[in-house]
Amino acid sequence: MEVVTRIAPSPTGDPHVGTAYIGLFNYVFARRHGGRFIFRLEDTDRQRYQAGAEARILEMFVWLGLQPDESPEVGGPSGPYRQSERLAVYHAHAEELLAAGRAYRAFETAEEIEAMRLDQKRLGKPIGYDGRGRDLPQAEQARRHAAGEPNVVRLITADEGSTTFRDRLRGDVTIPNSEIRDPVLMKSDGYPTYHLANVVDDHLMGVTHVIRAEEWVTSTPIHVLLYQAFGWDLPEFIHMPLLRNPDRSKVSKRKLDTSVDSYRQQGFLPEALLNFLANMGWSMPDGREYFGVKDMTAEFDIDRVSLGGPVFDLKKLRSFNAKYLRDILPLEEVAERAKPLLEDEGYDCSDEDYLLDVIDVLRPRAETLVELVDQAGYFFRETLRYDESARKQLASGQTFLQDIERELSILEFFDYDGVDDMLRDYVQEQAVPMGKVLMPLRAALTGTTNAPGVTDLIVILGKRESLKRIGQALTFIDAGLPDDDPQRLLEEEKARKAAAEEARKSRVKSVGAPPEAAAAGGKGSR
Ligand code: GLU
Repeated sequence: MEVVTRIAPSPTGDPHVGTAYIGLFNYVFARRHGGRFIFRLEDTDRQRYQAGAEARILEMFVWLGLQPDESPEVGGPSGPYRQSERLAVYHAHAEELLAAGRAYRAFETAEEIEAMRLDQKRLGKPIGYDGRGRDLPQAEQARRHAAGEPNVVRLITADEGSTTFRDRLRGDVTIPNSEIRDPVLMKSDGYPTYHLANVVDDHLMGVTHVIRAEEWVTSTPIHVLLYQAFGWDLPEFIHMPLLRNPDRSKVSKRKLDTSVDSYRQQGFLPEALLNFLANMGWSMPDGREYFGVKDMTAEFDIDRVSLGGPVFDLKKLRSFNAKYLRDILPLEEVAERAKPLLEDEGYDCSDEDYLLDVIDVLRPRAETLVELVDQAGYFFRETLRYDESARKQLASGQTFLQDIERELSILEFFDYDGVDDMLRDYVQEQAVPMGKVLMPLRAALTGTTNAPGVTDLIVILGKRESLKRIGQALTFIDAGLPDDDPQRLLEEEKARKAAAEEARKSRVKSVGAPPEAAAAGGKGSR
């Protein structure tokens, strides 16, 4: 039997980390068993519907590299994949249950339902529909429906006993039938409820394994009763542990950023996010923490999912991201992803070797792409701005800067070792602590003191640019450290932004997306 899994998000907001999480496990499970992974949009809740959410969720899956085999975008044999386009299917199935006497049309108004609830509350009875519409003769139901009277279709469920289903991870789960109170299948707006649409679609789309979040456990008995009413075989149910906030409550956007788009914009890498999510409730048999979706697929065993609520720890996600940025992704790959962001800032990235050098020296210093780009300014800006700490250093470093300027200009072997030896010799001669010389130099070269090693900086910037910057710093010091001319800075910033805007227009923006082809390979002869 071919394995078929699905992710069935509702388009009600930002692409959610929980959708990425459950999507990952469905994807990997399907791949592991040579099966198919379906994306189905559950958009029957018209009140919570948000235009644009569908496209963003689909886009998230593309960004993550978890492309569904069937979806509203790519189509497939079981389409349409938007529930709002399948209304006729649900109507037909509701009719089938009505005809078989397994469901009925109920005509209570919202006020009647509310009054019933209040009565139940007053009498201390369990709250819920009491089945009062069950006994209306079928012909009468049909007549009132035909006359246009608003109604819902309800499933007939037993009042006594209990319903049990088997969850692959949890074993038998049992709910007393008294808690299932003739659930609504079709709403009065003509849309199906989640229960009906979900079950009908899972059946018609051939879903063999329903892998979803724990929060749906309590809906599953209703689904089981529906499968039984239709006379269909049950799929296998696998309820994944819920992601939790650090305080162990269910992951929520009030306590945590749950938007994948937001992480993407902050410069998180899809590989890092997936690897982090893969470790939520699952682990590699050999305990290794860093692995890609391919490795996960090769080793995947759903029975290794553990049910303790995994905590979405932002610190940990950041450290995963840093690991991918620094060690796991090849330098060329990181450069390829940082490039559009740098270009958005108006930085000229046309010199590939220079770009690679810059990324190489900055990536150990950043946890996200955006942090990396934020630090990169002094490598690309024409004129440096000296921050407060740099100004202090410059003020105390004039003589050293003059000396280094001279030493550097006559330096014969301008490579890492040549520059490094020159600096060391000079510091030794002066008999001062390293920092006394290097800090003003770093400030002169970058306009800040939070920057990589000075030798690296000089080698990357090159002799001419380094000398130019030292010269500029000396002029700046000579001028008595005046404030930067705000007008000039403003104009410069404006020009840079305008150039960036031009560049942006001619480019499809792809924040941190994996490059389409592995075109980055082999760039730069390093
Ligand atoms: N539409 C539901 C959701 O938003 C699907 C739940 C399920 O997988 O059955 O998560």
